Amino acid sequence: MITRTTCPYCGVGCGLEVDRSPEGEISLRGDTAHPANLGRLCSKGAALGETLGLEERLLYPEIQGRRVDWDTALDRVADGFRRIRDQHGPGALAFYVSGQLLTEDYYVANKLMKGFLGGANIDTNSRLCMASSVAGYKRALGADAVPCCYADLELADLVVLIGSNAAWCHPVLFQRLRAAKEARPELRLVVVDPRRTPTCDIADLHLPLAPGTDTTLFNGLLRYLAQAQRLNTQFIAHHTQGFDAALAAATQGVDPIADTARRCGLPEAGVGQFFRWFAATERTLSLFSQGVNQWSFGTDKVNAIINVHLATGRIGRPGMGPFSLTGQPNAMGGREVGGLANQLAAHMEFDATALDRVQRFWQAERLASAPGLKAVDLFNAVGEGRIKAIWIMATNPLVSLPDADRVREALRGCELVVVSDVVRHTDTTSLAHILLPAAAWGEKDGTVTNSERRISRQRAFLPLPGEARPDWWILSQVARRLGWGEAFAYGSAAEIFREHAALSAFENEGRRDFDLGGLAELDDQGYDRLEPVQWPVPKGSSSGLERLFADGRFFTPSGRAGFVPIPDQSPANPTNQAYPWVLNSGRVRDHWHTLTRTGMSARLGAHSPEPLVEIHPLEAAAQGLKEGGFARLDSDYGTLLARVRLSEGQRPGSLFVPMHWSETWARSAKVGALINPALDPVSGQPEFKHTPVSLRPWSPRWQGFLLSLEPLDLTAIEAGYLVRVRGEGFWRYELAGDKGSGDWSRWARDRLGETGDWLDYLDPAQGRYRGARLLAGRLVACLFVTGGDKLPSRDWLGSLMNSPGLSLKDRAALLVGQPGEAQGETGARICACFNVNADRLIRAIREQGLVTTEAIGQALGAGTNCGSCLPEIRGLIAANS
Ligand code: SF4
Repeated sequence: MITRTTCPYCGVGCGLEVDRSPEGEISLRGDTAHPANLGRLCSKGAALGETLGLEERLLYPEIQGRRVDWDTALDRVADGFRRIRDQHGPGALAFYVSGQLLTEDYYVANKLMKGFLGGANIDTNSRLCMASSVAGYKRALGADAVPCCYADLELADLVVLIGSNAAWCHPVLFQRLRAAKEARPELRLVVVDPRRTPTCDIADLHLPLAPGTDTTLFNGLLRYLAQAQRLNTQFIAHHTQGFDAALAAATQGVDPIADTARRCGLPEAGVGQFFRWFAATERTLSLFSQGVNQWSFGTDKVNAIINVHLATGRIGRPGMGPFSLTGQPNAMGGREVGGLANQLAAHMEFDATALDRVQRFWQAERLASAPGLKAVDLFNAVGEGRIKAIWIMATNPLVSLPDADRVREALRGCELVVVSDVVRHTDTTSLAHILLPAAAWGEKDGTVTNSERRISRQRAFLPLPGEARPDWWILSQVARRLGWGEAFAYGSAAEIFREHAALSAFENEGRRDFDLGGLAELDDQGYDRLEPVQWPVPKGSSSGLERLFADGRFFTPSGRAGFVPIPDQSPANPTNQAYPWVLNSGRVRDHWHTLTRTGMSARLGAHSPEPLVEIHPLEAAAQGLKEGGFARLDSDYGTLLARVRLSEGQRPGSLFVPMHWSETWARSAKVGALINPALDPVSGQPEFKHTPVSLRPWSPRWQGFLLSLEPLDLTAIEAGYLVRVRGEGFWRYELAGDKGSGDWSRWARDRLGETGDWLDYLDPAQGRYRGARLLAGRLVACLFVTGGDKLPSRDWLGSLMNSPGLSLKDRAALLVGQPGEAQGETGARICACFNVNADRLIRAIREQGLVTTEAIGQALGAGTNCGSCLPEIRGLIAANS
């Protein structure tokens, strides 16, 4: 049976067709009818079927680690929230929610907190990813209204990607851009990013500006447009306000190109090219993402970009506009319902009119009257004891917030911590007093909204496992126990959606951007069949609107868009002698958030199996660091250990560390623990892209790895570095440390079991140990340790773990620590779809002379499915041919 649903990862919001056989086997493919992806998928979406197991799921409610029934758990949550509210008021309560929630879940959470518990301390992890875009749109356009749509990617003549590694973070949009450029080579792409990322693979121009100088670049562009007389004076005069002040604030020298280039650390030729292309190209689309948002002046960066679009009138028409790409699958849905603490509901603010309107609509018993605390401030309030009860839903703030170890201390001291999640063991669930098992992707029903305002259905295709329940059901049950049964008498996601749509249309009459009046009366069948649709969908309409602001009217009181004067800024904490490096954090290609889903796929994990720090090769050499070795990073807030990855794309003085590794997956590799908690004063978004750190080599006394068919608990091991990696049918543990037993043979038997055949080799002089345990001829575990840094291929040993029995040659090879005739594949996994590693690609390039992606695709399949690896294959061709 085929179910049409939506990918749960990024904000592209790709449609999927999931086929579940009567035997329960799952296969999936891109939905050719979904307008976001038109059948395409990236490596993460294509591997979703590998992440559906129940191995790590939370399946039953728990109180203090003991399984309880739902009634007991729900009573305890309701009693706790009631008691603390009665004693300390609604300001002592908080919800911390997530862009992983469906809109219907989000709606109920917001209604319960702001309408009935009477507080406004509900904020979302979307605060960490795109709050600056929300604030920037609101300042300029009068509403959190994304003007553009994905079709503009194909219609634009110039696409500017700012702070966006779309090739890895929005891969299907990147695929669309690549296809558009192949069809129309005259389409130009400019990438503005301190790093040369895989997105630059198809760029005509890369501007590797100094970190944090984007406002300088776009202010310079504004002044250039004015000097070159390329402003749209008609549009400025009739549809905007504040232009003169914005131009005056765009302080540049006599020559905007030379001055901008000097201040951004860029060559003049590149800046001049960009300015001239921008000035001359009417259909210009600016795509921006976390590299713009995650700064202490992210909102100003957004407005600097919007300013140049308003100055040229390039908004509301095909192929142009300032277009924010959201990180999470339902960041937009959260914004729509009021999941941000500073929004009331349905894009309404905390003004008297909206408060009165929402109170009447909800028949709210006690409506919050003022905005609540934004994410970082909210957890600060937990730490200070002002918030005494917190309910965290579908997110892992102990990993993802800045100064993350302080968040752990805050939660440790909190009177009541409730966590609803789908995973049993996360850093955050480890501190929960009450755990509530939530339904996961594939089990729950509802809607999500992608970056282009398109609402799509997520549909269930699996039964609810154990006692897992949808988040809206859990919230409604607690609300009923608190005495608000009538207001939360929901029987389905469809009922909630109708109410959400009706609120958006309530006393709207076109005055508010977010309006789903045309969907407010969908019956259950209509909701089930709902096709992807872009809001607004006002009453009388069902088809939605591709672009906003075509009529030049905006949602400000005057109806005009507002320029925002942008002063010069710099990061909150500059580098200094003690911390001379700039730490930038972000995603890698095949992982998502804190690994709770992608960590379960061996295929996805193979691309970047371990925490890493990217550094320019010349700087690495100067620091005594080498590829695959270890580095230690310190900031004022924490410490991190990671493998070194050399990258010529890394800007000198800058380091890049992925955000994905939690304490559940690795020891000392949580980048959030290093990040400074500097905030944008307007949006409250933290400065994830700029933390001053120190860097030095870490040379452990020993290092090694362990493969085991069974998962192991190694928490007691004295290893500074410990990383868990999912292999194909086994678990892999990477280890390194300064302390250790020395008696590895004993150590291995204690942890891996005494019984069966043991093959051992020990070389005390070199600190070398090789040990393998076989049961009935099958390799079930092995440990390799060295006092140096040479270790055998993990892929070779992984293939032996999957072998039903070892030959004599295999046994000998195990003891020697080297494969025999059969050469195992080594190097990073480049193509996740066809399991092709870097070494195999390099051999094909050098030995077979395959020097185009097409030739490689024909020979090895690599790059021919989702295409996510094409930039890396192209990089290997360039380096090896
Ligand atoms: Fe999912 Fe990839 Fe599409 Fe994002 S681009 S929604 S991760 S398939």
